[in-house]
Amino acid sequence: MGFVGLGNMGEPMVRRLAAAGHAVCGYDVAERARERLADSVGVTLANAPADVAADADVVILMLPDSNVVEQVLLGDGLLDRVQAPTVVVDMSSSEPARTRALAERAASHGVTLVDAPVSGGVVGARAGSLTIMAGGSPDVLATLRPVLSVLGSKIVHAGAVPGAGHAIKALNNLMSAAHLLASSEAMLAGQAFGLDPAVMLDIVNGSSGRSGSTETKWPRYILPATFDSGFTMRFMVKDMNIALQLARDAGTPAPLSRAAVAAWTTAADAMPPGADHTEIARWLQRAPG
Ligand code: NAD
Repeated sequence: MGFVGLGNMGEPMVRRLAAAGHAVCGYDVAERARERLADSVGVTLANAPADVAADADVVILMLPDSNVVEQVLLGDGLLDRVQAPTVVVDMSSSEPARTRALAERAASHGVTLVDAPVSGGVVGARAGSLTIMAGGSPDVLATLRPVLSVLGSKIVHAGAVPGAGHAIKALNNLMSAAHLLASSEAMLAGQAFGLDPAVMLDIVNGSSGRSGSTETKWPRYILPATFDSGFTMRFMVKDMNIALQLARDAGTPAPLSRAAVAAWTTAADAMPPGADHTEIARWLQRAPG
């Protein structure tokens, strides 16, 4: 199988696929990313993205965004090298409309492209416990299940329209980002009042204010001040903007979403480019009230 994008998510995913017995041919534009997998049993490294298509039954992409996905598939010629019945699976968090256009373009070459983005972070990628949300033909998803089940413990068909997975992925992250911002504001107010943050989390996590942010992000990354979830603020803002565009296109109301995107964008602009998304809590401490 071919795999392009050996970053925070791609690297552990490739390791799992190789450990499960798949022969993986990987590529990343960054030498540092390729070097991390150089000694991995079952992994060969290609010199160009299009080369991962040779002998591949599946080609997986785990790239930053739609710009890079299009660069690799169209600019670097990977799509031209893929021959049916090989399936291209974009597991990146990409833009649904651009995914749909790519799927149509692939189909005109006789190649199937499906979207199968993930949730669960680097921890989930290492453990093979990702949630995978797939768009496109359910029959194609059925053929991919043996591969995807190495990576995820929950695999859901999001819809038959190509891009359905990418749509719900972006919407999920919009919700997640809004929860993290709201819970961070509440945690700061509680601490300023004199409450113990650990006690606050204990109470909220047994109450209706709980979310993935209070159950996981605050105790695991923010309270111990490690800020090392492996998911950057830059990517969170990208996903929120994709979701907001969906709302704009549909004409659905989004006042809270717009406010959340504005706050996250200000935070991301104020932080170094690689800042972890959990640093929103740290930024908030310094933000004007
Ligand atoms: P990352 O930046 O760590 O990895 C992306 C990799 O793509 C990098 O190694 C980079 O060198 C490579 N790349 C960039 N341009 C390239 C090109 N032209 N050709 C080949 N390789 C190229 O990102 P990540 O955190 O692994 O995230 C990947 C995708 O998964 C993103 O869309 C992100 O939104 C999504 N995602 C990330 C997480 C997370 O927790 N990190 C969770 C869920 C979804």
